[in-house]
Amino acid sequence: RRHALSKYRDFACETRDHHRIQLMANITSINDVARLTQTGIDGIGLFRTEFLLMDATRVPDEKAQFTQYYEALHLLKGKTITIRTLDIGADKEFACLPHGTHEDNPALGMRGVRYSLQHKGLLRSQLRAVLRVAEFGKVRLMFPMVTQPEELDELLTELILCKQQLQLEGKKFGELQLGIVVETPAAVLNLPSMLGKLDFISIGSNDLAQYTLAADRTNLGLAANYPAFCPAVLQLINMTIQAAKHAGVSCSLCGEMASDRRIAPILVGMGLDELSINPAAVPEVKALLCEGNYQEFCDLARQALACSRINELESLLVSCKLPS
Ligand code: PEP
Ligand code: MG
Repeated sequence: RRHALSKYRDFACETRDHHRIQLMANITSINDVARLTQTGIDGIGLFRTEFLLMDATRVPDEKAQFTQYYEALHLLKGKTITIRTLDIGADKEFACLPHGTHEDNPALGMRGVRYSLQHKGLLRSQLRAVLRVAEFGKVRLMFPMVTQPEELDELLTELILCKQQLQLEGKKFGELQLGIVVETPAAVLNLPSMLGKLDFISIGSNDLAQYTLAADRTNLGLAANYPAFCPAVLQLINMTIQAAKHAGVSCSLCGEMASDRRIAPILVGMGLDELSINPAAVPEVKALLCEGNYQEFCDLARQALACSRINELESLLVSCKLPS
């Protein structure tokens, strides 16, 4: 079995009928990168930089961040890295950060870029470190929890400011690709006014489900009746993919559902260019995509989008014949 799964390690992720999929991985620390180079991925689709704060006694400065990003990029040997700016919220308090004011609904509060835009010193250190590391390889910068076009405008202004500042200081930096995580219904609806400024987007289906269904993603009691893989969320994912295609912007999905071997083919059939999945799921999902046909995945996607009930989707997952 192990042999069968590693069979595809040195091949591109491509279906039997030659449809190429970028298969990327989600990581939370550079320790993950070294292990991943063994599995045959196209790059890192989501680097959750919150790890930098995990055991830190003080907030890592630009230099400390640069070192970490550079190390990860170096280990990737020419492959793409997607660095997501800090996605911290009032519910995730880190010892090294000043504690925010109490919020009754932290998930609906000061998180992701909302926090970053309130703490511009921290944001700028991150933007400068990412810009500088982009000189050494393929780097994508991704902003979490963007809901309003105004936030994107402000972030882009910050990015320009950081470039100007680096130039003034005589420090080198590189070109990078710019994207956002689409993880709220508002972001989906606002895509037409944001896509023109972006090189790529990545659907954060964990949060997109939480905010669409108004169901706390950490509340296990809700998991059965409010799963992420449900008709409402699928429609929003489909809208996002169509909007991205219309604008010629590449579209990925980095939420948990892409790591599910039964769901990944459906997502590919819906037209995603890229999946970013858990490192542990790479061999299995890659084998599955390589042994299937894109036309079959498109059929599955059509069937999934026609489902109006969670149990219909579940039956589809049970009934669809996947290569074993
Ligand atoms: C998501 O929301 O789907 C996502 C990939 O990001 P996180 O799980 O870190 O919120
Ligand atoms: Mg998220």
